[in-house]
Amino acid sequence: MEYVKCLIIGSGPAGYTAALYASRANLNPVLYAGLQTGGQLTQTTIVDNFPGYPNGVDGNQMMMDLREQAARFGADLRDGEITKVDFSRKPYTVTTDHGETIEAESVIIATGATAKYLGLPDEKKYAGQGVSACATCDGFFYRKKVVAVVGGGDTACEEAHYLAGLCKKVYMIVRKPYLRASAAMQKRVEEAENIEILYETNTLGLYGENGVEGAHVVYRKGESDERTYDLPIDGFFLAIGHTPQSALFKDFITLDEQGFICLKGQNQATNVPGVFAAGDVCDPHYQQAIIAAGTGAKAALDAQAYLSELGK
Ligand code: NDP
Repeated sequence: MEYVKCLIIGSGPAGYTAALYASRANLNPVLYAGLQTGGQLTQTTIVDNFPGYPNGVDGNQMMMDLREQAARFGADLRDGEITKVDFSRKPYTVTTDHGETIEAESVIIATGATAKYLGLPDEKKYAGQGVSACATCDGFFYRKKVVAVVGGGDTACEEAHYLAGLCKKVYMIVRKPYLRASAAMQKRVEEAENIEILYETNTLGLYGENGVEGAHVVYRKGESDERTYDLPIDGFFLAIGHTPQSALFKDFITLDEQGFICLKGQNQATNVPGVFAAGDVCDPHYQQAIIAAGTGAKAALDAQAYLSELGK
């Protein structure tokens, strides 16, 4: 059976940065990239807010650069998924999608998160044809058009505000009679002239011949004044939160009520000694590439300290 000192699961900014630091610390890390090599940023066009790229960088390119940088110091970067883990006894064991079992002295979980969808069949039907879960990635295609953003949290407000700078009109489809977002974010969207908030409204479906041309929505469903109508839009943006990819670890690792991995204290340690977490899988709040990269570095340094204490 293969034995590794430091196994990293996931290949977003957190995973690759952990691999970079762990390889430079001579931990000979092995990284499993998972189903979507490069993670969420490979779905993006230009990343403008990662320090060090004054003119922005293509999301795919940035992930290839991070991968290359980790490989330069000897990180063993593998395609494939980890499908099972056993953290009940040391060394921990993980199983790959090829059925191989690996023993790991320490593990860094950097499996990220995925955007939530409403679960409507039309979201799949119009994927890439008017439906998006990332305004900053796809907003550009909707310049001077009419779009809707679903959600009433900080992300929805931020995305609506961003889109308002590009689009003719932005509707926010909010299921409650109020926004959940922070006061500052609420003020921002309320003050934008081309944002209209549709409270107590839910989406029933989408329509259109060639891509999205509108949404079927319902106002105050189940109430005496319930009203169903069609809202003409060119783009439909989901901003209803993210689901952390933590299900694989739930039997061993403490998760919060949303499924995010709980960290023990100041560092990236989980409740299982030697198992660390980094990036969006343990971050219900910021969900930013630069922060994921930073926590990836922290997790590798924590793994190094843990292994050195064990004399490994
Ligand atoms: P939130 O969970 O805060 O908000 C999700 C929103 O989507 C809520 O309005 C919720 O409605 C709505 N929603 C959820 N499911 C559905 C559904 N099935 N149908 C319709 N609406 C739905 O997620 P965010 O992504 O906005 O934020 C996550 C975290 O990140 C928060 O802590 C936030 O503060 C933070 N954040 C901070 C930012 C900043 O400070 N600049 C920017 C972005 C995020 P309801 O209210 O009814 O539950």
